[in-house]
Amino acid sequence: MFTLGARRGSRHAITVSFERGDAILEGVIKSDDALGQVLSAYRDSIVDGLSCIDRLRSARQSLDGELGDELDALYPGEASDELEQFLRNMDKRIERAGIVQRLFSLRSDFLGSYMPAARSGHITLHWGLIGLVAPRLGVSVEALALKVLAHEYAHALSHLGIDANGEHWTLDAYGQADEFVHEGLANYMSAAALAASDDWWFREALEALKRMVEHQTPPYREFQRWQRDVGAKPEAVRAALRTARTMDRVTGAQFEQLLQDYASGR
Ligand SMILES: [Zn+2]
Repeated sequence: MFTLGARRGSRHAITVSFERGDAILEGVIKSDDALGQVLSAYRDSIVDGLSCIDRLRSARQSLDGELGDELDALYPGEASDELEQFLRNMDKRIERAGIVQRLFSLRSDFLGSYMPAARSGHITLHWGLIGLVAPRLGVSVEALALKVLAHEYAHALSHLGIDANGEHWTLDAYGQADEFVHEGLANYMSAAALAASDDWWFREALEALKRMVEHQTPPYREFQRWQRDVGAKPEAVRAALRTARTMDRVTGAQFEQLLQDYASGR
């Protein structure tokens, strides 16, 4: 087991802060479509509006006689066409600005971050970006925020969690490990922690994690490969992490070998 509490005189500190995430957004956006970027924050409402127009049209088809005429007077067909065109144009601008797609193509954490330091670490949650991405995944902002916190906390635990011998991952060796190892561990450990609870919010956050990785780069899906191809179980992942922390520059392939060794009871 790893613990973040005091053990053999060691105590590691993890701090958390919240930022909007403007620096990430500025770094990722090459688009000169400022309106499209701003409209991205309203995409869920625009999609809801288009679905509302569709439903009202089918309602109109089922109404005849006086009721149909009354609805036509309230909401004439031309008004519906104009509103639909307006919403579709806005949606096109958002697609062109492509902010969310650009964010998902990043090979690093963007909804939050973990900054390791010597015997300590700092987690930042980017609330503005979480609010931007949650509607695209069809999950609540709260569930996605919990997923991000769990993911970053898992980075902290793999770095600072103290094993039975009082050891942790030194800052230097942590910094040199491959991204497939880091993101594989963070998603494996956070998914396992979220799945271990019956709490409704944990289940929602786990759903957010699953939907998120479908859009992300391969290092974020590495944990699913461990589960599928290696049959990785929590004990084997913990044992592999303990050994990996004693190695220099752990690669994805080396970590997978460790998982296989421990899974077959080395
Ligand atoms: Zn990460």
